[in-house]
Amino acid sequence: MTTARPHHAADPRRRVPRTDAVLAEPELTAAAGRLGRDRVKRAVTAAQQRARDGVIAPSDVAADALAALPATATGIRPVLNASGVLLHTNLGRAPLSDAAVAAIGAAAGTCDVELDLTTGRRGTRGAGAVAALRDAVPGAGAAWIANNGAAALALVCAALAGPGREIVISRGQLVEIGDGFRIPELIESTGARLRPVGTTNRTHLSDYAGAIGPDTAFVLVVHPSNFVVSGFVSDVDLRELAGLGPPVVADIGSGLLTPHPLLPAEPDAAGALAGGADLVTASGDKLLGGPQAGLLLGGGERGTRLVEQVRRFPLARAMRVDKLTLAALEASVAGPPTPVREFLDTDPATLRPRADALAAALAADGVPASAADTVAGVGGGGAPGVELPSAAVALPARYAEALRAGDPPVLGRVAGDRCLLDLRAVPPSADSVLLGAVRAVRVG
Ligand SMILES: *Cc1c(COP(=O)(O)O)cnc(C)c1O
Repeated sequence: MTTARPHHAADPRRRVPRTDAVLAEPELTAAAGRLGRDRVKRAVTAAQQRARDGVIAPSDVAADALAALPATATGIRPVLNASGVLLHTNLGRAPLSDAAVAAIGAAAGTCDVELDLTTGRRGTRGAGAVAALRDAVPGAGAAWIANNGAAALALVCAALAGPGREIVISRGQLVEIGDGFRIPELIESTGARLRPVGTTNRTHLSDYAGAIGPDTAFVLVVHPSNFVVSGFVSDVDLRELAGLGPPVVADIGSGLLTPHPLLPAEPDAAGALAGGADLVTASGDKLLGGPQAGLLLGGGERGTRLVEQVRRFPLARAMRVDKLTLAALEASVAGPPTPVREFLDTDPATLRPRADALAAALAADGVPASAADTVAGVGGGGAPGVELPSAAVALPARYAEALRAGDPPVLGRVAGDRCLLDLRAVPPSADSVLLGAVRAVRVG
């Protein structure tokens, strides 16, 4: 057999390894396991072409293909949050605890999320997460979990008010929660009617009392979680609202289950129930530190009944969470402290020595780094105005872009001509990763 293709001894095509041979290399076999054989094969084909074109050496085909492939089968990449914003919405809000990640792993296959293994019959979906919430929140007689805070609130409005009935709310609480989404529009999209009372800065008990009538479904209290009003301001205590008669629903937003000493102005679920709210809605991935979820908690006999009414409402089926969320939420509530909790509870005195050590290691490599005292914040639309003392590695601002494009990507904060890598939301165990990421970037 002779080949029709003319060739020359130096023709690189002759030395380009065959596809099967490249795919058989252990690292590429492993990549095929992670990413699928087709995808890896396409990367190999492209690398072979580069070898034929003389762009790379034929011996580098396998390495070139590997370099072009992502580490995992998702386009989502882990990012180191050195922004100093504990709950960064664009970074997926709360990072999960190792316990929550392990719980997701346990639930990922077939699992008993809705099967009673003793009787072999259908079990209560997410019973563990519900029990964990009830244990963690004194006064919670019932709980239910929706996709997110907005879903929990929308469902309450649809199930308890629906078309034709009124939800009484202070004008000071008709807030926008982010990305153009507004609480009043969310509520009205369920068909419920809003009955705003009072003014932007002041609402009195008499305003609520005057608006309550036969059409009132409930009184809604929304925590204005992303801004503070000060000055000539007044609003009404939950306890007073509870005395008016109709159910009181409190959207506390952040998902703080019990009070936190650093966040005195942040409402918590236990406090809202004790203060007279029948229902509390909140997010799972803000200060609670868990997965995206919406919590619905009911206090007292009426609140417990209302949770059941909401849970049985047909739309609830369209807002229920998956097994992964239930597993992660349970582990976040009942397990070890979440990363968010640890960032909050970090002794600020431990941060500056970490920043000093990182800056010294970088400076020794010729990187223009120094350590700085900074102020971090909670973020995620929560605890506005709360200043958390922190420390950072300071680099010239031009590092910010290179760090975002690095591996792993690092998100810092640009302040003036500096790029600050704030350590308040970086676990100490990630300092070495941060150091490696900064060392790896090339900045002119
Ligand atoms: C964040 C927030 C919401 C929305 O919760 P998601 O979990 O983001 O859907 C609703 N109300 C308040 C007061 C909030 O702070």
